[in-house]
Amino acid sequence: MKIICVGRNYVDHIKELSNDRPTDPVIFIKPDTSLVDDSKFYYPTFSNDIHYELELVFKVGKVGKNIDAKFAHKYIDSYGLGIDFTARDLQSKLKEKGLPWEKSKAFNGSAFISQMRPFHSSLLERDINFHLNHNDILVQSGSSSLMIWNVFELIEDISKYFTLKTGDYIFTGTPAGVGPVQRGDLLSGFLENEKLFELNIL
Ligand code: ZN
Repeated sequence: MKIICVGRNYVDHIKELSNDRPTDPVIFIKPDTSLVDDSKFYYPTFSNDIHYELELVFKVGKVGKNIDAKFAHKYIDSYGLGIDFTARDLQSKLKEKGLPWEKSKAFNGSAFISQMRPFHSSLLERDINFHLNHNDILVQSGSSSLMIWNVFELIEDISKYFTLKTGDYIFTGTPAGVGPVQRGDLLSGFLENEKLFELNIL
């Protein structure tokens, strides 16, 4: 199982990090060891600036490569929310030097995935809305309609390079409002006002 992540898919988040708007999706991968166990995130020792990034997540339901966007819905099994934890201090250093991001993005426990909901292609005909509370204060709210590339277009691009396998997850990028967490914090994620997860930072 792998986790395929998309960077810079919301204009407002690109602006808050002063990044350039990409001409193609920015893709990176987290290994299966990045999954959070047990609804607990353990703050790593190598960073002093861990950020949350709430994202819509889609689970792959069948194997495929070179998938056309118009057939991409057939490859999605379910959807939910995820947090792409990022060691922002380390990422900034790596970006400055033009080096790969993996140490700051794909470390142990850097991917939290909520419980999932069944996916129907009609879901994307309306907006999918989601938000994150940090210690009960609203910090991020997003909508699928604000993505530069929707999940079907992302699947077309990703599957040119990486074969999708059953059980893989796709993180579709974060809206604005990312920020740091501290030990003792609580993150709560909501999909259409239904609370899908609570996650403790230890
Ligand atoms: Zn992200």
